[in-house]
Amino acid sequence: MTRNYPQIIVAKFGGTSVADFDAMSRSATIVLADKAVRLVVLSASAGVTNLLVELSGGLESSVRQDKIDTLRTLQYNIISRLKQPEAIGQEIERLIDNISHLAAMAVDSRSAALCDELVSHGEMMSSLLFVEVLREREVETQWFDARKVIRTDDTFGCAAPEIHTIAELAEKRLRPRIDQALVVTQGFIGSDAAGQTTTLGRGGSDYTASLLAEALQAARVDIWTDVAGIYTTDPRIVPQAKRIDTLSFAEASEMAVCGAKVLHPATLLPAVRKNIPVFVGSSAQPRAGGTLVCRDTQEPPRYRALALRRQQTLLKLTCVNGQPAHRFLAEIFAILSRHDVALDLVTISESSIALILNATGSTSGQAETMTTALLTELSSYSHVEIETGLALVSLIGNALAQAPAMCKEVFADLDTHAVRMICHGASSHALCFLLPAECAESAMKTLHRNLLE
Ligand code: ADP
Ligand code: ASP
Ligand code: MG
Repeated sequence: MTRNYPQIIVAKFGGTSVADFDAMSRSATIVLADKAVRLVVLSASAGVTNLLVELSGGLESSVRQDKIDTLRTLQYNIISRLKQPEAIGQEIERLIDNISHLAAMAVDSRSAALCDELVSHGEMMSSLLFVEVLREREVETQWFDARKVIRTDDTFGCAAPEIHTIAELAEKRLRPRIDQALVVTQGFIGSDAAGQTTTLGRGGSDYTASLLAEALQAARVDIWTDVAGIYTTDPRIVPQAKRIDTLSFAEASEMAVCGAKVLHPATLLPAVRKNIPVFVGSSAQPRAGGTLVCRDTQEPPRYRALALRRQQTLLKLTCVNGQPAHRFLAEIFAILSRHDVALDLVTISESSIALILNATGSTSGQAETMTTALLTELSSYSHVEIETGLALVSLIGNALAQAPAMCKEVFADLDTHAVRMICHGASSHALCFLLPAECAESAMKTLHRNLLE
């Protein structure tokens, strides 16, 4: 039986939106401006996750201490602006002690599980502090540990959520709290069946927000960040980029998967499943408007956006024992599946296969996909070539498969660049190709000028 609940909005605030006391105050004002916002999902304050990832790398004692001091200063800059700093100060101090202890452990036993445990402290601290900021506005607010609901597998650093369990746990543990008060929780973190802390990969708070929106059948997800919407490309790379007012789920998903950092690549999966619109706006300029991502958009132009994904590795495998192509490919895909290599973009010819390994995303920042065991096994079936230092450029749009002049328009002015693998055809929303990393930004500028300005 489905019950009818009052429709809620899930609001997520990224690192810069909770970077310091002033940013937290602006974000609190946004939350309180709309009574439908009943659940707030927070990232760690800007810079904190990077510091914690570094600490998980097993640093030498004095370097470790410097980083912990930097962390403490960031937290105390916020605590010192609160009217009642004592109790929360002690709570944060206890978390910083934990961080110190875990960072010392990482010197002897570095692992992705330890990294996840350590980095989870960033979201714990920001969410505890944000609750204090809201309580100062005399709002009934409850802090909630997201790990009680966000159940994942145990792929530390890039864990996969278990959707059905999350829905059950959210109904049981989170819904009753939302009925009583405004609830503040952490993005990015979850726990496996054994109760160990996991993370959803870098930028994962967006994904948490949409997973919880799905579980609670929310009316909308609001992603508050440092840009007033989704632009035609990253405005840091091309300052001429313009905001796109509405995007379809398919276009925005393609952008996120192809590297537009404004949304975690998986954010739109739950939104698509439950048809929940996602709004993206700037917490520093809430009145500047933003982008609404929803199921349908009105007849958009053919080319919509460009995305760039850095740190790509190309793995080229050539058949050495003269097997027919279908058997060779079956062997290779079976090996990749056994080693749990998430396939990204692939091109295939009669005797070889080229695939992209995406080294970005995992919390610990290591390209753990390309293990020695994997390479050894692949080498027994094929000649293996690895090319690093590449970047993936993607053109996103609609009905690209029916665009006759597209290749001419895209590649005509890139004739000085060594274009590597090109992928087009499987998705009608993207044309992707690899370039040497050092020329990717200039290619983005050229393409933006030619196709989107
Ligand atoms: P948050 O910490 O709020 O999650 P992120 O840094 O993860 O913020 O994402 C916001 C950033 O995404 C922007 O500052 C911008 O540089 C980058 N970005 C990349 N592609 C785009 C795009 N197409 N539109 C807007 N921002 C983009
Ligand atoms: N704090 C995490 C990160 O920096 C998650 C997030 O911000 O979405 O990756
Ligand atoms: Mg982000």
